[in-house]
Amino acid sequence: MTNEDTTTDEVDGRRAPGGDRNATDGPEPFRYEAEVDPGETRHVRHEVGETYLGDPVEVPVTVINGEHDGPTVFCTAAIHGDELNGVKVLQEVADRYDPADIHGTLVCIHVCNVPGYLAQQRYLPIYDQDLNRSFPGKPRSNTAERMANAIYETFIKQCDLGLDFHTSTRGRTTMYHVRADMANPEVARLARAFGSNVVLSGEADGGSLRSVATTAGIPTITIEMGRAHRFQPELIERGLDGVESVLAEHDVLPGKPVIYPGWRRIVDAATDKTWLRADTGGLVEMAYDAPLVYEGDAVCTISDHFKTRERTVRAPFTGLVVGALQNPVASPGHPLCHLVSVDEATAAEVQREIDSGEFSERPWV
Ligand SMILES: [Zn+2]
Repeated sequence: MTNEDTTTDEVDGRRAPGGDRNATDGPEPFRYEAEVDPGETRHVRHEVGETYLGDPVEVPVTVINGEHDGPTVFCTAAIHGDELNGVKVLQEVADRYDPADIHGTLVCIHVCNVPGYLAQQRYLPIYDQDLNRSFPGKPRSNTAERMANAIYETFIKQCDLGLDFHTSTRGRTTMYHVRADMANPEVARLARAFGSNVVLSGEADGGSLRSVATTAGIPTITIEMGRAHRFQPELIERGLDGVESVLAEHDVLPGKPVIYPGWRRIVDAATDKTWLRADTGGLVEMAYDAPLVYEGDAVCTISDHFKTRERTVRAPFTGLVVGALQNPVASPGHPLCHLVSVDEATAAEVQREIDSGEFSERPWV
């Protein structure tokens, strides 16, 4: 089926986006080019484009349509093709829930950027287009916009809220955290329910799934977890807990607990964070053991190959290192660490966890 067929076939039969289904009397089929009935789980391959050979490019999607009425929740992974932790989260989510227990519908789009995934790279191999700057897309535009449009129109528009899983760009790593526009109450509810310690608050970049869906009335958060090209079991477990907590909060899994992470730092992305950048070229060595650094602490050193010149980069304020370089070479301007400020009380709580061994986050490992 071509994109054009998909668009014309499906518009009439599609349910209205953004929660209008709450007005209905009971669970309904989830419709794409076929239907998934209430009480049914279906694994779908949905065509979003074609290769050079004219073969279909298909995204793998699992739809779990619950026996009971409730919201439709999407989970997306690998919009950046080499970001794999979320792919594993979705494989487990799609396997773990029985439609008999679900009040609503789960839509797991396991791999959004299939060409990037096959090449194990962030962007679409065609002109390095960024799928996450291409939403909601257009049916008559470049490859990325067509793919984004096929995903958005067929699946995302039918949903009431969403979770989009990412990792750091290759060569860096990121602490487990959520990005969300906390000024939007529904987004804030979702972000809190996910239960990460750190939330970076702010609007998403234009054309990103989070931005476009949220603007369209489908509250969406981004989860950032660890490194590209890896499955990191500890982070994946936390991601699964986060999904379940969100489903509990929104009564998709009534009776399940909503988690609270123990401490939480909501960071105003505009004022409370900074990227520390290299001012010299050279070899980078991280100088901290846990990602809590105090004002004036050494964060890393940059030395030349002869060890005749060494520059120490220090924390300008007390904060958490939520992102760090992993590829240990830098040139001037190179991002080294993404630092978010924490107040004294949060720093004390994090320090307590570090001292007691509870704080497992070692983002540069
Ligand atoms: Zn990403």
